[in-house]
Amino acid sequence: MTFSRLSPANLLMRCSTDFLTRMSIISFSHVAKQYAGSISALSDVSMEIAEGELVYLAGPSGAGKSTLLKLIAGIERPSAGLLLVSGQDMRKLNRTTLPYWRRMLGLILQQHRLLNDRSVLQNVMLPLLVSGASVKEATQRARVALDRVDLGNKADLAPQALSGGEQQRVSIARAIVHKPRIILADEPTANLDRDSGRRVMDMLHAFHTAGVTCIIATHDERLLQNADRVVQLERGRVIAMHDAASEVGA
Ligand code: ADP
Repeated sequence: MTFSRLSPANLLMRCSTDFLTRMSIISFSHVAKQYAGSISALSDVSMEIAEGELVYLAGPSGAGKSTLLKLIAGIERPSAGLLLVSGQDMRKLNRTTLPYWRRMLGLILQQHRLLNDRSVLQNVMLPLLVSGASVKEATQRARVALDRVDLGNKADLAPQALSGGEQQRVSIARAIVHKPRIILADEPTANLDRDSGRRVMDMLHAFHTAGVTCIIATHDERLLQNADRVVQLERGRVIAMHDAASEVGA
């Protein structure tokens, strides 16, 4: 069937389906970030990230990877340009909307910041309790999240009793317990040995396969070898974008 034979209603449906399948969940348009008293952490960043994509942010220390993730997370605000995350203009996010909006994000940081005076299970329950879930519901969902990272048998231990890799997996469970649409991971394997790092990456890839948009900052070249899409940053600028099908200088 050619386009000319489509009825106006079909044409509209076809166009909107096409639009939706290509719709980006994160859109940077000439975004810049300047911290007080510092050089530009990010300059003129423009790119689109589609729903369900797995994107690596690569570049040396100081390139702006963490800053880019913090802008998406609403931890920092752009100094200039337009950043839309799931349609939300990030410069207009306010204190009232931020906590609700953040629930669609899962944050995995280099330092996992687990609370050592609580059990592994309680650590994973915490984001749910903060957002108003009952203890019963939070317990059930935290146990499911811990099973997904293969730590169901360590739920009652204190975080210090776990290895570094296991602690990072607890932080993944905590990040995914509220079923986020977007996972942001900042150097998630930085302090881990090779096997633990691979396990963490396998888990992040599994979430991507399940349809979650994943953005992972790393300076570990090994992680980039099989990546579908890599955004290369240097001194706050996107200097190249590579994807499995093409390689485009930015
Ligand atoms: P990366 O994650 O690639 O190592 P960052 O985003 O952490 O890079 O840092 C980019 C630049 O912004 C660096 O020059 C860094 O010193 C600066 N920077 C990052 N955070 C702050 C901050 N809170 N205040 C001032 N400068 C900062």
